[in-house]
Amino acid sequence: MNSFANTLAQLKKAAELIKLNPNIYEILKSPQRILQFSIPVKMDDGKWKVFEGYRVQYNNARGPFKGGIRYHPQADLNEVKALAALMTWKCAVVNVPLGGGKGGIKVDPKLLSSGELERLTRGYVRAIKDFIGPEKDIPAPDVNTNPMIMGWMADEYSQLVGHPVPGVVTGKPLSLGGSQGREAATGQGAFYLLQELAKKLKLNPKKTTLIIQGFGNVGYHFAQLAFKEGYKIIAVADSKGSIYDKRHKGMDPKNIRHTKQSRGLIDGCYCVGTVCDCKNYKRVTTKQLLELPCDILVPAALENQITRANAGKIKAKVVLELANGPVTTEADEKLNKKRITVVPDILANAGGVAVSYFEWLQNLQNSYWSEQEVNKKLAEIMVKSFHEVWQQKEKHNTDLRTAAYAVALSRVTEVMQAKGIG
Ligand code: NAD
Repeated sequence: MNSFANTLAQLKKAAELIKLNPNIYEILKSPQRILQFSIPVKMDDGKWKVFEGYRVQYNNARGPFKGGIRYHPQADLNEVKALAALMTWKCAVVNVPLGGGKGGIKVDPKLLSSGELERLTRGYVRAIKDFIGPEKDIPAPDVNTNPMIMGWMADEYSQLVGHPVPGVVTGKPLSLGGSQGREAATGQGAFYLLQELAKKLKLNPKKTTLIIQGFGNVGYHFAQLAFKEGYKIIAVADSKGSIYDKRHKGMDPKNIRHTKQSRGLIDGCYCVGTVCDCKNYKRVTTKQLLELPCDILVPAALENQITRANAGKIKAKVVLELANGPVTTEADEKLNKKRITVVPDILANAGGVAVSYFEWLQNLQNSYWSEQEVNKKLAEIMVKSFHEVWQQKEKHNTDLRTAAYAVALSRVTEVMQAKGIG
């Protein structure tokens, strides 16, 4: 099943459970608008190259379309559609007044110079400028896009319309109207959620082991907060390698990041001065890493990592989905049968969009909040959303994903019906 088919299968399951109005269901099965375009870019060697870009505006019943832009060689329309749908449900689960959208460019940004990346980014904005804006559609970062790229986007859009419009994208640098706390927001939100989950499942952080796949923006910040709370991070992977602490004593994410920054790989051993201790760490493949025994497995990289093929081998008690769509529908069924608690992406990683919403609000008001204020409001949203989803899970005797969809679909339906749809 492809990514969009997975999303639709989950939509169907939740729609049946809550007996969703069939007209609303019919509308929610398709995106409202699909933009697909070519972006010609002059490369540093003087030759022109054409890149394929996408923006999918899935649903704006609850507010302007909202969602990140991914730069990845495997980005395609199907994936962007799936991610745009997930954004619709995610904004509704955490009850922020935004709709769902997503964008992408099929490119390996690591192969571009900084100048080429900037020209590509500005070209992307020129292609979609009539369809975005603070009241229409507000892009944000995703895989391989960062505050610098968001800054270029905001600047290009502002130049095109002739005045500063910081609220056109979120995830910007602070100097361009970014929000305190946005960079760490997804990991921070997931950490608040982890704390609630730990209370529900009676987990003692100091005795709870975590495995994290993906050590970028989301994975790193989450790892850092969990480590500080005493959780034991026993294995970590990025796209180039993995490392496993055989003793289960727990690794400090700062050391792992240091190794990655100094050597380009996370799977080094940790050296302080001339003293090295490599004997307790083991290299494992990403595939092996997912199947290692642990309490909480945290996929924080890409979609479709836990599939029909490996779901039966997962030994974690909990899967906390920080990536979007890391578990396929078939795998999800297997994990549910094995009584593994899966905390779904649309709840677990919603901290990013919650703080993006705060950033947008601050831009519109031209008034800025402290990091403490941002995190306080984020905690309120994540804790409330967790309990609302948990309540639905108990009410319907279902899994957390279906419960989260039920919360989201009820909220989207309420607005659509108030507009006379359905
Ligand atoms: P990122 O580009 O900062 O990091 C991605 C990480 O995944 C990198 O460490 C990369 O090396 C690793 N990775 C890629 N392929 C891998 C593989 N096959 N095995 C192991 N590791 C691999 O991206 P990010 O912003 O951290 O996003 C990660 C996930 O979280 C994505 O699914 C994204 O859609 C989702 N997400 C991000 C945000 C956000 O605010 N950035 C919000 C919600 C959801």
